[in-house]
Amino acid sequence: MDDALAALADDLRAADSAVALTGAGLSTASGIPSFRGEDGIWGEEFDPQSFHLRRFRRDPEGFWTDRVRLQERMLPDDVAPNAGHEALARLEREGSLTAVITQNTDGLHATAGTERLIELHGNARRVVCDDCGTRRDAEWAVALVADGDGPPTCECGGIYKPDVVLFGEDLDPAALSTARELVADSDVLVVAGSSLQVQPAASLPAQRDGATLAVVNYELTPFTASAEYDFRADVTEVLPALAQAVCGE
Ligand code: ZN
Repeated sequence: MDDALAALADDLRAADSAVALTGAGLSTASGIPSFRGEDGIWGEEFDPQSFHLRRFRRDPEGFWTDRVRLQERMLPDDVAPNAGHEALARLEREGSLTAVITQNTDGLHATAGTERLIELHGNARRVVCDDCGTRRDAEWAVALVADGDGPPTCECGGIYKPDVVLFGEDLDPAALSTARELVADSDVLVVAGSSLQVQPAASLPAQRDGATLAVVNYELTPFTASAEYDFRADVTEVLPALAQAVCGE
């Protein structure tokens, strides 16, 4: 792995633009349960249909009661960025990473200090009024619902929705087109902790235009075979080692 890391570090240093695309593997390394897959909470603990946009519109009170239960499971009070998040923030700070595009909604990249951040599926730490688009801290809404005063309502009369892309809801087209442009303009694309099974992340690597592709993921992805670098290893080991190889001690 060391030779490959050193070579990827050289590529990152030489790149005019480098982008990281991250998925659930970054979150699970911080102790956040995964939604999908064998141990995923969809199906076992939570019914995905309860979090459908239709449910929110039809039964906002019931939706929010379930959502608070999910939020407490997903974002426990002590959740914190891990060495993988920190490494990506460091690479950006040192000028060797242009942006992070993430499928995760936990906000941990921002907490770690990543500044140019595209959150494709939104951010569960915020809520947004379904009518006027005003945003507020999710903590406020969660406390309100937990006290039995839900659903959280806006001054305009609208109801606050978690600021994430719900089932049945489209992605923010601006975030998606920015992500596509970043990938198309990149010289190096590092996919970390994503199996690239869920759209739109699943199609983003195909937008690269000659960029070197590195995949850091335990499982095989549809792009692993065509990647220049293939690390079947832990993101919290590979990314810090990469940051160290690029930036020094
Ligand atoms: Zn409003």
